[in-house]
Amino acid sequence: FVKFSEVQKTYDGDTLVVKNLNLDIARGEFLTMLGPSGSGKTTTLMMLAGFEVPTNGSILLEARSIDAMPPHKRDIGMVFQSYALFPHMTVEENLAFPLKVRKLGRAEIEPRVKRALERVRLGGYGKRRPAQLSGGQQQRVALARALVFDPKLVLMDEPLGALDKQLREQMQLEIKHIHEDLGVTIVYVTHDQSEALTMSDRIAVFDDGIIQQLAPPAELYERPQNAFVAQFIGENN
Ligand code: ATP
Repeated sequence: FVKFSEVQKTYDGDTLVVKNLNLDIARGEFLTMLGPSGSGKTTTLMMLAGFEVPTNGSILLEARSIDAMPPHKRDIGMVFQSYALFPHMTVEENLAFPLKVRKLGRAEIEPRVKRALERVRLGGYGKRRPAQLSGGQQQRVALARALVFDPKLVLMDEPLGALDKQLREQMQLEIKHIHEDLGVTIVYVTHDQSEALTMSDRIAVFDDGIIQQLAPPAELYERPQNAFVAQFIGENN
């Protein structure tokens, strides 16, 4: 479904922040990129989103090169810690925005917005503005907005990073349920081991621009391939 082949990325023409990435992501999979700060996770996600261009190698989405597709044609939903809602728009208007960009008519927009809001349990909040919502509710709206146009792929970069522990755990379950219900492919970036272990079908452990191990959570835990993985997975668990 997604295929990275021999992907490299350098920002200044010198240091490789992504060294040689080969990764296949299956349709419907929940794939997490886990690793310490600066290990190249966000850069990898940005290349998939089309915001950064690989220095070498290729990225295919459904067997088509990502470079050849204009961003709004890629049908990729995104939720980032800092990917803010439009503050001057109501919740409903925020959700309608990606549908208007895709030229849907009003008759289609209204039921889709309603369904997306109900999916994140914010049915009664459509007329509010983002500033009138809690942090967790705002992040739910961001999630609903990423899903409202039925994307093929959803990218999430530390989406729960700003939330406290209890809310984070609750949202992990909600995202997991949405993933199961919709069957959408999710690529998720975090530096939190327990979050990755709870949510993922497979985890790619990044360090220093390289995937150190790619495996389901139980296998990473039981059979770490090297000392870095063993230590990193073991921390805080
Ligand atoms: P974090 O969890 O802190 O975001 P990360 O694993 O996502 O870390 P990246 O953000 O991909 O790592 O960063 C990898 C390296 O690339 C870092 O050394 C960073 O300083 C560098 N880098 C990232 N973005 C840029 C940029 N736009 N220009 C130059 N260097 C960058």
